[in-house]
Order: sequence, then structure tokens, then C-alpha cells
Amino acid sequence: MLAYERSEYPHLRTNGPQHGELAANGLPMIGNRLRLATLSDASAYHCRVALRELSRHEILQAVAEYDRLGQDRFLEKYGFGKARSYRLVVDGKTYDSKAIVGAAHGFLPGREPLAAADFSGGAATVGHLLSSLGFQVTQAVPGLTAGKLVVQLSALRPYRSPDGRQALYQPLALLWAVGRAHQGLARMTEWSETETTLGEFLERHGEHPRPNYPVAALYHAGLWDIAGPRPVPPAHGNAPLRWFASNQPASGLPEPVYNLVRYSGEARVAAAAAIVDKYLENVDYDAILSDAGLATAGIADDEVPAGDIIVVRSPLVEEYRRLCGIGAGASDRGARLGRPRVSVDVLRLESARRAVLLRSEGHCESPRCTGEPQDITDAGHPILEVDHIQDLAKGGLDHPEQMIALCPNCHAIKTRGCTRERLRHELFMVAGQRHQAILSR
Ligand SMILES: [Zn+2]
Repeated sequence: MLAYERSEYPHLRTNGPQHGELAANGLPMIGNRLRLATLSDASAYHCRVALRELSRHEILQAVAEYDRLGQDRFLEKYGFGKARSYRLVVDGKTYDSKAIVGAAHGFLPGREPLAAADFSGGAATVGHLLSSLGFQVTQAVPGLTAGKLVVQLSALRPYRSPDGRQALYQPLALLWAVGRAHQGLARMTEWSETETTLGEFLERHGEHPRPNYPVAALYHAGLWDIAGPRPVPPAHGNAPLRWFASNQPASGLPEPVYNLVRYSGEARVAAAAAIVDKYLENVDYDAILSDAGLATAGIADDEVPAGDIIVVRSPLVEEYRRLCGIGAGASDRGARLGRPRVSVDVLRLESARRAVLLRSEGHCESPRCTGEPQDITDAGHPILEVDHIQDLAKGGLDHPEQMIALCPNCHAIKTRGCTRERLRHELFMVAGQRHQAILSR
């Protein structure tokens, strides 16, 4: 099992070039971890803008080196994982797109190769760059999006007992797995660990400690991956109990689902909210979400994908709508706003923050803004603060219509400026107009 995980995630083992190896430009290379730790803000910024300097010439040089070394040695040299869904096509051969771009940067005069963590491998960066240079890029597997995942999660048919009670095994197992992905734990878990930790999780929330049931049911619903012999028996009866006991299979979320809920904040909150809304209406979902580690600040934040993993973003309008609707069913105004449940408040607040940042398109939303900072954060985001226009204590709500993205200057004016009351009125109008403008796109 360990060997399987290593081959699945080579970047976890060999993050960076081997000791003593020289870069393409002849300079010694420093391991990625060290480079990341010592990157100044300016050079981190540089890495993100550096892609623009690349031409076909450097890409083809990297392709030639890839041909010479072969895939494994090339990826190991530059510290990239295998591209699973997104590949560059040159003369009928396919290449790991992100690794090629990272290596190509080292062929620019005076430049070093970029590490996997220096830039995102998504359609917006690597895909856009390669296509704008006239290359063909393929997506082998159509990317799973948050929207498609929600549809899949909402289609489960949890078991109902003869007295009509809906069993919580499958929703609980999914939240447990999403929480583990969010913590960065490996996708596939040994059966002994699943049996213990998922078993205890089920028991803490009112079900019997028998993880084989939800794991088998979710496998047949396409929402769980199980290693080991086939066929996997149906979920009900005693067959699965015996099958899991004798095979001890590693299992976990299917890879596209895992990657999405691990790295995409949008998908994480959408998945948690869909499961709560659809299956946990009448139970203490507050405690369940907390226990799964899904009720923390930052739950809606994206994380930089490891290796060459592509995380597909939903179209802006679709994502904005979904984030506005957290806990609110189909309407964009929450029927549940004000419901005093802590963890869902966290999901809603974090979703609303993310929605406001999307709506801002990276700029201060104050109509009186006189200038934003030119710098960006370490994560590559503009320096913006998302604020309730009216303080929560004074009746403000965790809803994008009542929140605003401000640069530090405008934020200070809103908090301490003598014109703050007038500004507050203007901000309510602007937030409302911008909110409606997105919804009517
Ligand atoms: Zn401003």
C-alpha cells in the first residue's frame, strides 16, 4: 500500500531536484522546499509573472529534454508529479504540461526552472499559455467541477429503515472523507484505519460502527474508490462484512473528487453544504461538521495543488450563485439566515467572503477608492479585506449583498473616517448593484 501511495504521489517523496544536480542553465539547483522558504515577496511575484516571458522556443527545448530523459527522469529532475488530466501534445506525443512549462523557464537566459508550487497548473495559466503559443493541449478526463460533484452527492439514496428513518451512513462517511482531504491526509486509507476512525465517527453521530456498509454503497454510487479484487459485493447483507474482513482493501474518495475537495475551497463548501441540506436537515449537523474538521475559518479557501494536479474552476456566475445560496436552497437570499448554528454560520460566512472576492474581480469595491496597493499577497491574491458593511453586532448578515471587498485605505475610512456613515450607505448600494449585476449575467 505504501508503494502504491508513493507511485501515486511522487512529488511527496521527491520534491525537487537531486542533490548536486545542475539546472539547464548550468547553475546549481536548490530544492523546492528551500527555495520556497527563502523566496522573497518580490521573487514570488516574479515567478507568477515569469510565464509571460516564455516563447515556443523554450517550450520546445523542454520537450526535447523530456524526450531525451524520458518521462520519469524528467519529472524527477524538475520535481513535478504526473499530469493526469491535462497534457501538451507535440507531434502526436503527449507531455506533462505543467512540468514542461516549469522546465522551459530554465531555458530562458539567466532564469531558473520554476517549481511546481511556484505557479498553478490550471487551464487559466498553463493551458492558456501553451495554447497562446500555438500548442495543442488535451484534457484526457473531462474535469469534475463543484457543480457536477453537487449533482452526484445529491443523487444518493441513503437506506431507510422500516420506521422511515433515513440512515446517515453515507453522508457521514462522505463528510469524514472530505474533512480528511481538507487536512491533507492521503486519499487512500488502509482498511484497518478506516474501520477504526470511520467506525468511531459513525458511532459518535448515532450509527453503528460498520464502515463497510457506506464504503460499499458509495463505491457502487461512484463516490468511493476501493483497491483489491473485484467484484465488490453489494452494500447490504453479510457479504460486504466478510469481503472487507478478508481483503482489507485500502479505500478513499475517487481521485477527481479527492483533488477537488482537497484543493478547491468552492468545491469543499459546496459539497459540505449539499450533504447538510439534502441529508442532515433534522440532525445535529453542527457537531458533525465540527467533528469532520469542516467548520473552520478558511474552509472556502483554495490551496495550491501539489504536483501537476488540475483543479477545474466553475464559471464565475455559477460559482457566485452557489456561494450565495449556501444553506439557502435555490434562492439567493438565505431562508436560514440568522439560524444560530455555529458551524453552518462558518460555512456561510466563508462562502460569502469567497463570493464577495469573486464579485470584486480583484479590485476595491468602494466607489470612492483613490488607489489600491500594487503589491499582492504571498498566495498571489490582491490585498483586499472582505467586511460586513453593517457590523454583525448591529444586525449585519453573512450574505454577499451585505458585504464588501475593500482595499486597506477604504477599509480604514469605513472604520474610522469621519465620512464613514455616508460611505456605508454608498457601499450598501454598490454591493446590491454588483450582486444583481452578476446574477443577471
Ligand atoms: Zn479602496
